[in-house]
Amino acid sequence: MSAIIMDGKAVSALVREEVKERAAILASKGVKPGLAVVLVGDDPASQVYVRQKEKACASVGFASFMRYLPASTDERELLDLIDGLNSDPAVHGILVQLPLPKHIDKDRVAEAIGPEKDVDGFHPINVGRLTLGIETMEPCTPKGIVYLLEHYGIDIEGKRAVVVGRSNIVGKPVSILLLSRNATVTVCHSRTKDLPSVTRQADILVAATGKPKMITSSMVKDGAVVVDVGITRTQSGLIGDVDFDAVKEMASYITPVPGGIGPMTIAMLLLNTLKAAEACASGSMRR
Ligand code: NAP
Repeated sequence: MSAIIMDGKAVSALVREEVKERAAILASKGVKPGLAVVLVGDDPASQVYVRQKEKACASVGFASFMRYLPASTDERELLDLIDGLNSDPAVHGILVQLPLPKHIDKDRVAEAIGPEKDVDGFHPINVGRLTLGIETMEPCTPKGIVYLLEHYGIDIEGKRAVVVGRSNIVGKPVSILLLSRNATVTVCHSRTKDLPSVTRQADILVAATGKPKMITSSMVKDGAVVVDVGITRTQSGLIGDVDFDAVKEMASYITPVPGGIGPMTIAMLLLNTLKAAEACASGSMRR
């Protein structure tokens, strides 16, 4: 039986509608949510992502503040720009597009963003809060994954979840979110021994490696829920980490690439920015 396709595009459109309505309420009280996006350098993929974010802001009535800096920008200049955005009352969320040029320390940049404006959820304070189970700004891709699962009524509690990939922006935080919802979580990486024997135990399998089609049907249990986070750009389009055509015949639910987690990530960015603006408007700096 073929899996139900979890339609991230459609679900993200619902989220955007909600964000738009709440943004209009805020605007009627004189607060227009604002997102600042900083791009250093001219990486073509990053330029596409930044334009998508600018368009997404416009579609829900947010202000966007785009800052394009040359690749030669030094770290001090970037930190000074972030300082200015931290103290700008029109800016509720700040995002610095990754990857950064090699001469800039991305950890120092993440730490420079005020935690209450850290809509990516990468500041160590927000990461710490996430790990401790304290309400925080959750990182967009992991939040989008869990949002999509919950939208489709997938019960996470008690399930065996396997996450392939342990990056700070996807693998680790999604593991924490799944754990906080009482899944039993295993995190795999490039040095995991006999990966297929681990992935075959998954009721919920999250692939976040950036290795196209590495999750084959022989690595998936019948009836598993499969979430494909991977995006690899090729001449024939975007390719995920999952061999979609084969795996969809065994999974119960599956996300496509494109149209799965990608649009959910942008929707969660809008939601985080809205929450930052709402918190600011209500006088509490945390949502
Ligand atoms: P990353 O930082 O490169 O991390 C990749 C992870 O995969 C690492 O932990 C690595 O293990 C693991 N890995 C690589 N090859 C493996 C293998 N053969 N077997 C098992 N594990 C393996 O990547 P990322 O930033 O997490 O992104 C992962 C993918 O998601 C990329 O394609 C990226 O473009 C995509 N992405 C999509 C969205 C979205 O909105 N849909 C958002 C973010 C990222 P080690 O730690 O041992 O090296």
